[in-house]
Amino acid sequence: MCSTMRALVPLLSLFLLGGQAQHGSDWTYSEGALDEAHWPQHYPACGGQRQSPINLQRTKVQYNPALKGLKLTGYETQEGEFPMVNNGHTVQISLPSTMRMTAADGTVYIAQQMHFHWGGASSKIRGSEHTVDGIRHVIEIHVVHYNSKYKSYETAQDAPDGLAVLAAFVEVKDYPENTYYSSFISHLANIKYPGQTTTLTGLDIRDMLPKNLQHYYSYDGSLTTPPCTENVHWFVLADFVKLSRTQVWKLENSLLDHHNKTIQNDYRRTQPLNHRVVESNFPNQGLTLLPRLVLSGTITAHCSLNRLGSSDPPTSASPVMETAGKGHLASREKTKSKSKAHVNTPPLGSRQPRSLSSNTVKTHKDNVLGTRRAF
Ligand SMILES: [Zn+2]
Repeated sequence: MCSTMRALVPLLSLFLLGGQAQHGSDWTYSEGALDEAHWPQHYPACGGQRQSPINLQRTKVQYNPALKGLKLTGYETQEGEFPMVNNGHTVQISLPSTMRMTAADGTVYIAQQMHFHWGGASSKIRGSEHTVDGIRHVIEIHVVHYNSKYKSYETAQDAPDGLAVLAAFVEVKDYPENTYYSSFISHLANIKYPGQTTTLTGLDIRDMLPKNLQHYYSYDGSLTTPPCTENVHWFVLADFVKLSRTQVWKLENSLLDHHNKTIQNDYRRTQPLNHRVVESNFPNQGLTLLPRLVLSGTITAHCSLNRLGSSDPPTSASPVMETAGKGHLASREKTKSKSKAHVNTPPLGSRQPRSLSSNTVKTHKDNVLGTRRAF
């Protein structure tokens, strides 16, 4: 190799690496050359047959009574400092390896990070990734884990049985502030720009999840962002986290992406189920309360059944019915044109931020009341 070449090789490598790094952060959901329709061209797995998210169609979900509940350990209050970053697509909290989830088959997964998907370009645009009977929910929480048989997330992320994600939906009605989210939400202001990191002191992921952790949908899928690796065992909780409208608004309007635009609608459209079967460990029957029981005020065990199915509309805003495909894209297009007008501007109406202090309540502790009010 001549000396000129020798000098050029490192330069060329740097250029290529730089290009890759930029390429890695350049994918988008709806804008530019690498929007989600084009992900498969650069990340072939994104065009696979076992992709996520999906629509969870309850009449097709197979109830498997033998499927045990998840066992979560180390999710409760933890001392220490936990980095929280704006990665240009979402906010991500690094989790300690002491947090573990044991699945029904005994596989132990170690927590790696937690992040969120949301909507927000208008007060009616929701942003969960999975839909339930075509209904998109307000926010979706993902707690990403890797299989403990691998020594690190980096090793597991390419292994066929490498990952598991515990997912949960957020609903917003007229709930008061969920104080378990207060610290997280107040820290968003520190990471407005991509690449910025802040630190959460102390963490209680258990409190940030729904009250009922036992009932879930389960299926085999993929990462919902490039490289869309098809090695994720999904556990989607049936119960909801409840946040106030102000809290949801802050998540939807606090962070900017690499193009200096507010991060909104950071969700992938639902993917074909293909040959896969979705299982649940709770029945889909008995979702309707007998009117007689409601009238007499005899709300007993039926309450929890009803709640699990979440047959009631998830928010007071009108539900957004969506199926995979054109309808969804059309709705995102509409969103796009609206989004500029809403950047950093509270939408008119019910999402106007209100004083946080006036309605502070510890939501989980009051969940029983919240459940009854849901009727
Ligand atoms: Zn995610």
